[in-house]
Amino acid sequence: MDDLLKQINAKSKEFCQLIEDLNDLQKFKELKNSFKSYVKELYSYLKSAKSEEKKILGQAINDFKNIIQKKLDLMNQKFEIEGSSRNHDPTIFKSEIKFGTIHPLIKLYKKIENILFNMGFSIAQGPEIELDRYNFEKLNMPPYHPARDMQDTFYIFAPQVLLRSHTSSVQIRTLENISPPLQIISPGTVYRVDDIDPQHTPMFYQVEGLVVSENVSFANLKSVLITLLKKIFGDEIMVRFRPSYYPYTEPSAAIDMSCTKCGGDGCQVCSGSGWITVLGSGMVHPAVLKGVNIDPLRYSGFAFGLGLNRLALLYYDLGEIRKLYENDISLWKQL
Ligand SMILES: [Zn+2]
Repeated sequence: MDDLLKQINAKSKEFCQLIEDLNDLQKFKELKNSFKSYVKELYSYLKSAKSEEKKILGQAINDFKNIIQKKLDLMNQKFEIEGSSRNHDPTIFKSEIKFGTIHPLIKLYKKIENILFNMGFSIAQGPEIELDRYNFEKLNMPPYHPARDMQDTFYIFAPQVLLRSHTSSVQIRTLENISPPLQIISPGTVYRVDDIDPQHTPMFYQVEGLVVSENVSFANLKSVLITLLKKIFGDEIMVRFRPSYYPYTEPSAAIDMSCTKCGGDGCQVCSGSGWITVLGSGMVHPAVLKGVNIDPLRYSGFAFGLGLNRLALLYYDLGEIRKLYENDISLWKQL
């Protein structure tokens, strides 16, 4: 019997050590089973033991059983707590989580923003629901001015309240509040009545820029916009300025860039011309400066505007504008 008592003692130490070293649930289950079968074995010894030995052996078995069972219970609690916290911990990585990506328009916008920041521009923002005064009138487009038809406008309360058709409205608001010199960009969503097709959406993104200071010339405009386009599309592109018309700039220029698809040879993207119009620009019209109480004899300025969606089509070679809205994350991730 002494041997058996010694064995129980040794087993007790062995189980204690094994429980202490436990670190996974599977091993814990195995250990519980081997404990159970060892206790069963001990009871079978007890049955066959001599009656005078039964008391001592029974006591030893009970002590062993109680000690180890207590330790196993504690370990069980520990695994349960860990298990439940694992189930509820939102930071635990689950393989079924699908990660998103930055929208290609935002990616391109950030690139443009960064280039313009480095040239000294800062950001100005304004409301998307706008007054006619800021969207048209103070931009040298009084009521019934024919140029208003260039932008089919959504009206909320006609004729005074509308969805801005360009972010030039922000420029007027800024000019009213900040005296020159100033150098701003006004990025944001704009709205024009348009059917959705491969090239058009009724809501799109614009980035407009405005510089007003003393001695600002057309050469400054050219330098800023050529630098901007070359930094976006690469030094190899060619840029040309064409006379154009906007009521709020004089002179005005449309800016074409050599086609990014064919390099100027002519293709479907550039309608065979080799050139694509990417920006509108011009020197701020003196009437606009006068309208915000800035002396046009002392100050001059230039302004430009680009449609971010249209530019994204070329930059990512998307083919059609709707791909920017179809939530095809796997496509966006490749861009
Ligand atoms: Zn082309």
